[in-house]
Amino acid sequence: MLMKLLLQFPEGLKQFALEHAKKLEAQGHEVFVSATPNFGACDLAIEEAKAIGAEKLIHFGHAEFKKVDFPVEYIFHSQTASYEIIPDAIKELSNYQTIGLVTTIQHIHQLDEVKALLEAAGKTVIIGKPYGFAKHPGQVLGCDIGSAASIDRKVEAFVYFGGGLFHPLGAVYSTTKPFFAIDPFIKKFMWLDSYREEHRKRERGKIVRSIDAKRFGILVSTKNGQTNMHLAKVLKAKIELSGCEAAILTSNTFDFDYVNNLMEFDAFVNTACPRLTTDDNERLRKPLLTANNVIELLTLRAQPKQQVAQQA
Ligand code: SF4
Repeated sequence: MLMKLLLQFPEGLKQFALEHAKKLEAQGHEVFVSATPNFGACDLAIEEAKAIGAEKLIHFGHAEFKKVDFPVEYIFHSQTASYEIIPDAIKELSNYQTIGLVTTIQHIHQLDEVKALLEAAGKTVIIGKPYGFAKHPGQVLGCDIGSAASIDRKVEAFVYFGGGLFHPLGAVYSTTKPFFAIDPFIKKFMWLDSYREEHRKRERGKIVRSIDAKRFGILVSTKNGQTNMHLAKVLKAKIELSGCEAAILTSNTFDFDYVNNLMEFDAFVNTACPRLTTDDNERLRKPLLTANNVIELLTLRAQPKQQVAQQA
């Protein structure tokens, strides 16, 4: 059936937009391409599709994240990376026997082969299950690190196979074991544990900076896969019960250069993409807390002042 289509690409795949548009046009469809920034399948351009009268959104590069009430087709983009550096990388793992193996959706079809290479080197390999947003065992997403966290107690070290640091770092922050990344694209491998230490220090620092905060801005994204108004309302009620003020702030994409203009607030609370808190918060002049940080902060404040000073 010929349709009016909106195509949506994450930033790394936008370079192929015209090629895909032409193919679909040649089949007789009317085709439009979204130029809006895209960060994942949590961020479907459904309102944009509706605004131009499109009958279907074709989302490239990510698997389904959450069910939505609009026709969406997901076109997945897998990449087969070379195993060339794996033998050298395995030498770095000589002190560890039981390995937890993770990757991204782009390389999930290679997971069994990487596992076999590690096993051939005498390792025991465990592959964990995601929490729910990711779809495959061993897959990590920026916001679903269950495939690593769920096996943290069973392994001696983790190995991530894939490009870049965005995906492994979410897992590094949420686990406790040595974490090794093998990047087959730049042909490099490295331990990522120093990032975990820095993250812990930043987390502590945020609590200290927020200890006297009185006015909280709670960020709620309107992106279909990120919105969590229920959590925001629960946090607002808890903050107000503690004698402070809070307001819920909404946006489709939080641009911290503009959030900084909301100067009355002493601290912000993130209920949107969890990676805003870990990766982007330096652009915000005030601390950006997680929901757990807020509970920790309110609990700390309920304690006698002397005890708070010792713990903060
Ligand atoms: S990490 Fe953030 S941007 Fe990526 S899929 Fe999860 S919510 Fe979306």
